[in-house]
Amino acid sequence: MENTNKPTADSKGTQACGCTPAPAPNAELDVTGMHILAKSLKENGVEVIFGLVGIPVTEVAYICQLEGIRFIGFRFEQQAGMAAAAYGYLTKKPGVLLTVSSLGFMNGLTATANATVNCYPMIQISGSSDRVSVDLEQGTYEGLDQLNIAKPVVKAAYRVNRAQDIPTGVARAVRAALSGRPGGVYLDMTVPALGGIVSKADAARLQFKPVDPAPVMYPSPESVKRAMELLASAKKPVFILGKGAAYSQNDEKIKELVQKTGIPYYPMSMAKGLLPDNHPLSAISCRSMIMEEADVVVLVGARLNWLLSRGHGKWNKENKYIQLDIDPQEIDCNVPIAAPVIGDLGASLQMILEALPQYKLQMDPSWVPSLQAHTVEANKWIAQKLTPSPEPMTHWDALRAVKQVLEKHTEVTLINEGANTLDDCRDAVDMFVPRHRIDCATWAIMGMGAGSAIGAAIATGGPVVTVQGDSAFGFSGMEVSTMALYKLPITVCVFTNGGIYNHIGVNLGKDGDPAPTTLDLNARYEKMMEAFGGKGYYVTTPEEFAQALEASIESKVPTLINVQLAGDAGKESGHIGYLNPATLIPVTV
Ligand code: ADP
Ligand code: MG
Repeated sequence: MENTNKPTADSKGTQACGCTPAPAPNAELDVTGMHILAKSLKENGVEVIFGLVGIPVTEVAYICQLEGIRFIGFRFEQQAGMAAAAYGYLTKKPGVLLTVSSLGFMNGLTATANATVNCYPMIQISGSSDRVSVDLEQGTYEGLDQLNIAKPVVKAAYRVNRAQDIPTGVARAVRAALSGRPGGVYLDMTVPALGGIVSKADAARLQFKPVDPAPVMYPSPESVKRAMELLASAKKPVFILGKGAAYSQNDEKIKELVQKTGIPYYPMSMAKGLLPDNHPLSAISCRSMIMEEADVVVLVGARLNWLLSRGHGKWNKENKYIQLDIDPQEIDCNVPIAAPVIGDLGASLQMILEALPQYKLQMDPSWVPSLQAHTVEANKWIAQKLTPSPEPMTHWDALRAVKQVLEKHTEVTLINEGANTLDDCRDAVDMFVPRHRIDCATWAIMGMGAGSAIGAAIATGGPVVTVQGDSAFGFSGMEVSTMALYKLPITVCVFTNGGIYNHIGVNLGKDGDPAPTTLDLNARYEKMMEAFGGKGYYVTTPEEFAQALEASIESKVPTLINVQLAGDAGKESGHIGYLNPATLIPVTV
């Protein structure tokens, strides 16, 4: 199809837009902006791009492959974006998403916004129509003011209008994604920039390698002193480890801090595995007790957002917070923070560890034993939930198989989304290795599974296992084709209970349609993977499930295991039903 938006030149060399005369390209001596873009990405250390091509970026992907950059092609831009974000989180390098303009841009933007909210470094590069006609609203092909649409939902947004500015645009995007609090960045690549002609010699001169794109920032010694004095005075202190701590890759320093202080820790869901969940100082099962009793709470790369009741609710009103974070604007956003320590976590931890010998901690000797006693009781509750119940399976029955297999295969990266499938899996399956769990995180929204699994498989080489509800799987199910095409070692586990939350919702009207939460209880999702040459299993017992999971991890073959649950397994909204604005209608019986 002809690209009506390319700056076509007439016989006199004047472009259709009438702006700049297009120089006659010479394949021997010249390159286009697309070559400059590929080279710039390479200069910035980009090794892989996730995306979905079409006008005007198809050739960009071809040139990237030529330059030795992997291109992973998806079926839906949003999932390519989820992959880029997961890749960014796991590698501390910007995950790059490439999309076409208008709808492709919008589809990808959801993932870039999600990356921003979750502090994952990611760059969305979208082709866009010549702004001359976009700004005049002349109805050009895929015309949309993409830059201004992206701005409110990303950390930074830049537009490149000229081929010679591409290296600067890429370098700025990389710096914005990686430095300070990481996030999603939008880079608008207009058709004139992509199609602009530059001589090879000039293009080579334009390239540069940015120096120190993510500089380490140190906290002030005063802030460390303030924090240490508060910590030393604490009777019932606790560390809350967040995914910022996991992202920052300071695993040894975090271990050292916990071991040297003997202070218990509570991991947020994606910080699970920074230290093993079954460590003697793990207070993972003591959430309420920590909230009610801790007197000094040290937030380590974790935000006091809704996932921690925003510091309200059950939290002890007399407690004090120390917050180790890279972003000064995060401080005091919900409750006053007594001792902010602003800097890169590695630097902050280093200074704290160096200061530690000068302080005598006054922790109450009964604090850790009381948390440990509570943990013993909580573990009994979990063990009881995991005891076999009659068929068909509940979530917990199925999770018995997941727990059995994954706690042995600690090399597996676990991707987890759903409602009950998320809540129960997080509780049931212990993690032992940092950054091996990715879930729907801060927005707690469905639709990140397949893309995140693919991003994780590319970042780590695999193996990856997803544990997804049937509703969650539905958002991204078509990407089993990507898993199969690239032969990725991913096992997709779909917990089929026939619904959003469950299969027992009732239509309160008279039209006989399914309830709003109803899905097919007998869908054979495994056939989707088989359709693309992967392996499919349909399992109805924990034993069958464990066998299939074990076999698929060993085989490294893209696999989908359809895990048949009971239709009444799962409750409305899982653990967060209280967030519904009203509960007057009995949506499920
Ligand atoms: P969780 O949901 O696990 O609490 P959040 O994403 O809410 O995690 O919080 C992560 C926090 O970590 C953010 O406030 C972010 O600014 C911070 N952070 C990210 N990277 C670093 C880093 N290198 N050093 C310090 N803090 C960081
Ligand atoms: Mg379901």
